[in-house]
Amino acid sequence: MSVPLAYSDIVRAPKVLLHDHLDGGLRPRTVVELAAETGYRDLPTTDVDELAEWFRVQADSGSLVRYLETFSHTVGVMQTKDALARVAAECALDLARDGVVYAEVRFAPELHIEQGLALTEVVDSVLHGFEAGAAEAAAEGHTIRMGTLLTAMRHAARSREIAELAVAYRDAGVAGFDIAGAEAGFPPTRHLDAFQYIKRENGHFTIHAGEAFGLPSIWEALQWCGADRLGHGVRIVDDIEADSEGVVDPRDGVARLGRLAAYVRDKRIPLEMCPSSNIQTGAASSIAEHPIGLLRDLRFRVTVNTDNRLMSDTSMSKEFTLLSEAFGYGWGDLRWFTINAMKSAFLPFDERLRLIDDVIKPGYEALMA
Ligand SMILES: [Zn+2]
Repeated sequence: MSVPLAYSDIVRAPKVLLHDHLDGGLRPRTVVELAAETGYRDLPTTDVDELAEWFRVQADSGSLVRYLETFSHTVGVMQTKDALARVAAECALDLARDGVVYAEVRFAPELHIEQGLALTEVVDSVLHGFEAGAAEAAAEGHTIRMGTLLTAMRHAARSREIAELAVAYRDAGVAGFDIAGAEAGFPPTRHLDAFQYIKRENGHFTIHAGEAFGLPSIWEALQWCGADRLGHGVRIVDDIEADSEGVVDPRDGVARLGRLAAYVRDKRIPLEMCPSSNIQTGAASSIAEHPIGLLRDLRFRVTVNTDNRLMSDTSMSKEFTLLSEAFGYGWGDLRWFTINAMKSAFLPFDERLRLIDDVIKPGYEALMA
């Protein structure tokens, strides 16, 4: 098998996705159609191709703040039950067609109540959509298991309420909780109450940390808030000193880990890395220079994710293809990322094992044969 791997083969590999935003993954055509149906008039263009290009250009600006502005349009058309269900169904179907076998997709219920929906109606609509999309995918021969994370916005004050909503829906398809939004000026410790509530309820949560902002953000997320996983966590490299040639062999101890980086690796804290997105927001300068190469060499619990498929014009298969091209990753590496992600999912242990043993390992064995 030659490296880099071909995109068309990578699509056939079983993949696991832990970090994907529902409002960042709409089909461009759906944005245009929903705007017409729901009376949303603020789109920069109603031409599908021009709109797809517009999202890419905006997201390429290199600023997290401008990147986040693109969401006013996707969120703008996701204000009715039907729109939410349609976007969720298409999300499940698109992921399944890309070979994703397990996904945790997140969204912020508080962003979808502008036209009067209750938070519970928002969550119900999305869960119905995921179910319908997964059923449609199954009819096509693609099996996907969908999980949901409820996100609270870090600049807002509803995190405790959203955390309670996540716990209330834990047996109905919601696997965990998250906070997202611009990091600077909004440390995760503002939401301690929500995190402590989730902990007391034996729930799971991840925190967007160490994307645009540095080590203090990661440290707070882990040591004050108790996050199970880190959304991005790219800046953990600021606590690692590699040798001057940049050659790293963990067995030789060439790289020196600071106390926080050592903690993250020792405790097997999953890093939800999103290579294309990290480049667009300026967290990394290119795929080849993305810290994922170093962190994989050092055997951190690295996972690969899409973040926002619309804004980054990406998919799990595209991310894996870019990494294979940049780092020469073969099937063994992609299987390692995939098993890392499955081990880190907010799914019961026995179900994670079953997916690893019955779906992921046999899937890669067939490709490697
Ligand atoms: Zn994200």
